[in-house]
Amino acid sequence: MRKSYFSSPTAAEIKRTKELFSVSEKYIDRLLNISDTQALIISDSLIPEEYVPSRKFFKHGRDVKIKRFKTLEQVIVTQGYPSESRKTAFDNLSDNLFSGYTFKPIVGTDKTTKKIPLVECFEGAKLYCYANQDTGNLFGAEINVKPYDDSSKVVYEGAEIILKVPSREKQHSRYEFKFSSVPVADHQNKFGIGYSIKTDHVCGSKRFNIRYNNILSRDKSKVDNFCAHEIAGYFSIIDSYKEFSLVPYELNQFAIPNPFSIEFYNKLDNNCLIQNETDKRPRKLNRAEKEILLWELVKDVGHDALFKTKGKLRDFSWNR
Ligand SMILES: [Zn+2]
Repeated sequence: MRKSYFSSPTAAEIKRTKELFSVSEKYIDRLLNISDTQALIISDSLIPEEYVPSRKFFKHGRDVKIKRFKTLEQVIVTQGYPSESRKTAFDNLSDNLFSGYTFKPIVGTDKTTKKIPLVECFEGAKLYCYANQDTGNLFGAEINVKPYDDSSKVVYEGAEIILKVPSREKQHSRYEFKFSSVPVADHQNKFGIGYSIKTDHVCGSKRFNIRYNNILSRDKSKVDNFCAHEIAGYFSIIDSYKEFSLVPYELNQFAIPNPFSIEFYNKLDNNCLIQNETDKRPRKLNRAEKEILLWELVKDVGHDALFKTKGKLRDFSWNR
């Protein structure tokens, strides 16, 4: 069972307590404009048939390609900060139906594509906020960061950092895992290091992705998917370094939501149902449907409206 911070009303509760509107177009406009006492029922299939079940969508759906750098020299000369590249990619979406954004390592032998669904950025941000609530000493709710960064290798390979990140489920111990290739030293190599971040984390969502890839992969190309636990962990790494290095923030690969996009994301959980021809009754959106709507929102309003802010993520409210 989910901790209360991460629970949301059931479809039956939404139907019982909100004023309902059935819609079959302009979902984004409608979602932006409904109040908390209202809810939409989308009477349409957001996921194209060839990508059903929805997990197939995350494997085979299109990805938003963040600028690929060919060499370390190229990324250094152009000062290729990921947030700038994300803005360029997000502001120039020529299509829709995306299942996440991807980047590729520039240096080293492992050139595995790294993929980040927007849903995981929001879930990771929410988990980070949960762990940073100002409610005193919540045992087991905080994120622990233990860096191993004192070796001279850090300039060339980045730091290794052990994290403990809480679960969103009740009665579930924290996840402990290692982030590698974390850029922390302010040296030009940071650009190469920052595109090679990886972890040894495994959880339900990651394990399923691995299995699913093996069964269904038509192309042999392996993709590393980042999940909410890793993203919440990376945001905590940024915090733990901020006194002496901004490099983890400068090279951050994960989109950080702002209050406007958080409010929209909350509506997907609390003020939106869907019913297509195969559904007997309206139901909650699944991850793939949320991902599709988030990218439509990006296409409509652009990167900065959703992922730029002067405030601090930990201060943003997820309350409804
Ligand atoms: Zn995970």
